Amino acid sequence: MADQDCLFCKIVAEEIAADIIYESDDAIAFRDINPQAPTHVLIIPRRHIATINDLQPGDESIVGNLHIAAKQIAAVEGLTDEGYRLVMNCNEAAGQTVFHLHLHLLGGRIMNWPPG
Ligand code: 5GP
Ligand code: ZN
Repeated sequence: MADQDCLFCKIVAEEIAADIIYESDDAIAFRDINPQAPTHVLIIPRRHIATINDLQPGDESIVGNLHIAAKQIAAVEGLTDEGYRLVMNCNEAAGQTVFHLHLHLLGGRIMNWPPG
């Protein structure tokens, strides 16, 4: 069920434009508006799930499919061999600002560890 006030639900519904580069039955992916790396893609479930804390038994395929999508997008972006980072922030302390589950795919530069 879409959340009326959710930015990413509006992107799923095509009420707000985004550079969508991947679509499946249960997920879409689009380029981040404020990229932190040469490739910065957000992969999101079509269904509104606010945070990792809201995942329930039965949601395994949704979460798994985000990662399968990430692998496929990384290949298209030419990142398979050099590598890339997948990040999912949960709540404010981790830096989550949009409360619709999303997997960041970052690549095209050297990533530092530990992250900031
Ligand atoms: P978070 O900080 O919640 O983990 O990540 C949210 C991401 O969404 C940020 O990297 C931010 O740049 C991106 N973002 C916020 N608003 C928009 C938007 O309207 N369009 C797109 N494409 N990305 C957005
Ligand atoms: Zn949403």
